[in-house]
Amino acid sequence: MKIAILSRNRKLYSTRRLVAAAEARGHEVHVINPLRCYMNITSRKPQVIHGGKVLSGFDAVIPRIGASITFYGTAVLRQFEMMGVYSANESVAIARARDKLRSLQLLARAGVALPITGYANSPSDIDDVIRQVGGPPLVIKLLTGSQGIGVVLAETQQAAESVIDAFMDLKANILVQEFIQEAKGADIRAFVLGGKVIAAMRRQAKPGEFRSNLHRGGHAEMIQLSPEERALAVRAARTLGLNIAGVDMLQSASGPLVIEVNSTPGLEGIETSTNVDVAGKIIEFIEKHAKPGKTATKGT
Ligand code: ADP
Ligand code: GLU
Repeated sequence: MKIAILSRNRKLYSTRRLVAAAEARGHEVHVINPLRCYMNITSRKPQVIHGGKVLSGFDAVIPRIGASITFYGTAVLRQFEMMGVYSANESVAIARARDKLRSLQLLARAGVALPITGYANSPSDIDDVIRQVGGPPLVIKLLTGSQGIGVVLAETQQAAESVIDAFMDLKANILVQEFIQEAKGADIRAFVLGGKVIAAMRRQAKPGEFRSNLHRGGHAEMIQLSPEERALAVRAARTLGLNIAGVDMLQSASGPLVIEVNSTPGLEGIETSTNVDVAGKIIEFIEKHAKPGKTATKGT
């Protein structure tokens, strides 16, 4: 097969592992920077052009589009989909996952267990939103944040009000969530591929920190998921339409809760903590599914 990896940086662990896994299985792989692709969207024949050359003959695309380039990156991916090229995750599903509010709405509608979450636009509604989610301690999240940046724990009413006030004053979109204390600074990352959990790790925040992101100094170890956790992760990925997803969950007193579904989950933490060949499994999945015309949405 001829596979395109849409990635801005071929030196990243995840990109390198996918290239190596594809080559090891005899495929031709091209790492293509989506920001250097341009498109002719007026012709009847959709094309993607890169460095003056029309990209053609690809059987599959693996999108590795970073959060900061979601808009342009998904437009490039959509163009591939319109050309009938199979995408490991479709542009529409990536866009759903990237919008935290939208994805939580979709998950809630599907009955996926989530922490109690509130959202408001006007400072005059702050008090009520705080009450709606059960009062402090609570977690305030910037909708555009990632890697734990923009996730704040407010332990008192006063702290909650002033943080929410400050974010709103900056015109930042935020959500307010009940703080799951029982999680004790740990979360679970389930790596879902094609409707199955293929690897899972538990991430523990460093002492004095409640955010377990590896970028925030957390450390990871392999875990065995309960059937309930497994089913929840699979359901969350399916609800957003993702073949590949990193589903983050918290272990609460009332069972597992989904906090986030990542459409471009990193491979380094999960491969090194579990020893699962995640990259190899992704390539295997594509071999099975990248048939012409298998793109469900064709970008719409
Ligand atoms: P990001 O997308 O920036 O990683 P998350 O929503 O995943 O943001 O939050 C980062 C970390 O903060 C999580 O991995 C988890 O450890 C912790 N966390 C997030 N939400 C809650 C919550 N409601 N209760 C307790 N801890 C939380
Ligand atoms: N993008 C990374 C992932 O999805 C973030 C990991 C982290 O911050 O812990 O795995």
